[in-house]
Amino acid sequence: MTAGTHTSEEVTLARLPSGVEITTTVHSYEGDDDGPTLYVQAAQHGREINGTETLRRFHERLPLESLSGRIVAVPVANPLTFDRVSYTTPEIIDSVNPNMNRVWPGDADGSLHQRMAARLWEYVEGADAVVDLHTGSPDMLPHVVFLEGDDESRALAEAFGTDLLLSEEADDDASEEWHRRGFAGKLRVAAANEGIPAITPELAHNKQILEDAVGIGVDGLCDVCRRLGMLPGEVPDREQTLARNHLGQVVADESGLFRPEPGLEVGQPVAAGDPLGTVYDPTTYEPLQSATANRGGLLYTLTRESTVAAGDKLASVALIREE
Ligand SMILES: [Zn+2]
Repeated sequence: MTAGTHTSEEVTLARLPSGVEITTTVHSYEGDDDGPTLYVQAAQHGREINGTETLRRFHERLPLESLSGRIVAVPVANPLTFDRVSYTTPEIIDSVNPNMNRVWPGDADGSLHQRMAARLWEYVEGADAVVDLHTGSPDMLPHVVFLEGDDESRALAEAFGTDLLLSEEADDDASEEWHRRGFAGKLRVAAANEGIPAITPELAHNKQILEDAVGIGVDGLCDVCRRLGMLPGEVPDREQTLARNHLGQVVADESGLFRPEPGLEVGQPVAAGDPLGTVYDPTTYEPLQSATANRGGLLYTLTRESTVAAGDKLASVALIREE
């Protein structure tokens, strides 16, 4: 009779100026039979806690006796942003790289986030597949991002099972905006560049535990394990929409209050020029901007936080490639 084993260890990611160590817990699930190694982490953006809750439920549900290979799971990849319920760290902690998901594979002698990433990369580089759980903005259609043209990563994205899959161009194929925003330093991109298939599920909603988002996450991890041959069972065939491009968002031209078009919901198809909402001057009531879809496609984000500054994202429309 086989059983498999679960162990956990406390790992030091970096030191704060005071000497206090930043530590986190790394879980290892070892099957009795050989198989691939899957690395999965959550909350490198600390407010994105549905990934953390997903890993707790996955821990409860994982049939260890059926596991082949090894799973390494890090529920809180970035304790600093987790404690601040934030996306980035304050300047005083890491003025060079406030966003941990721009520094992979990290640098053991670098800035604080680079050191934290470098420590976790020791687990990543030994893996055969990587899942980096994120949860996007408050109103976002759950989706999985993968590297365009990378068939193995696409297979993992399909297995994870969200209705929407987004392929993202990288490196020489990518836009100026992709480079300017430092996307080459994402964990998913760094892993794929090392030949490790990698996906970024965006489960949607931050700061609140949402049962639907967590359910999608746990089911997705189980199906990724099945696709990798680590758990028994078949991944079901699904109807999924493949769309392109994380970038090219509709942004506020002026600061003010944004009122989304009544009735508009993420997940709806839109045509180029369709109204998305209006930015008003809250003092004079003057409409400053009639925001419209910049392209036809699938509306997958729509901001519900109404106080917007010029340049803030209002909505994102994905270009549909395959349905
Ligand atoms: Zn994130």
